[in-house]
Amino acid sequence: MVKCICCGSERDDSDNMCPVCGMPRLFGADVTPEQKAKAVSENKRKYLGNTGIYLTEHLYDVTENGIVEAGTRSVLIARPSELELGEISWMPESYEAVPSDREFCLELEVEKGSQRSRVEVAIAPGRVLSHKKLGVKLTEGFTFRMVVGDENDQVESAALELL
Ligand SMILES: [Zn+2]
Repeated sequence: MVKCICCGSERDDSDNMCPVCGMPRLFGADVTPEQKAKAVSENKRKYLGNTGIYLTEHLYDVTENGIVEAGTRSVLIARPSELELGEISWMPESYEAVPSDREFCLELEVEKGSQRSRVEVAIAPGRVLSHKKLGVKLTEGFTFRMVVGDENDQVESAALELL
């Protein structure tokens, strides 16, 4: 088995093309690292296109009757085609620390072309993290994981399908 140089999934040595992302095998010793990097980035763009991952934020108003939900808004977190495998795209804002003794859920939308599908992601109870930022990590086989924490200490969700 070999690892696909584009999406990181395993494939048979004899496969001329990755069954997940379609990345062809690059033959010949004359392929330079620059040509290889260019081919990988073109293939990634071809398969992931303009796919975007959005966070659904719930907005609240404080009224005489208490706190009332005032709708939602969608905030772009990352475009996976712009990420390297294993790279995390962090949202700029920090959130308050959430209780770490129970699972919490994130509401996301994954946009492909003009279609958007809703995805709920559970983050398992874990260590107390004082700085809460949200990020998206591009992982093997063109999956992604939601990441909570900061550059030094993170908790990850399970892998979710992008394609
Ligand atoms: Zn691949």
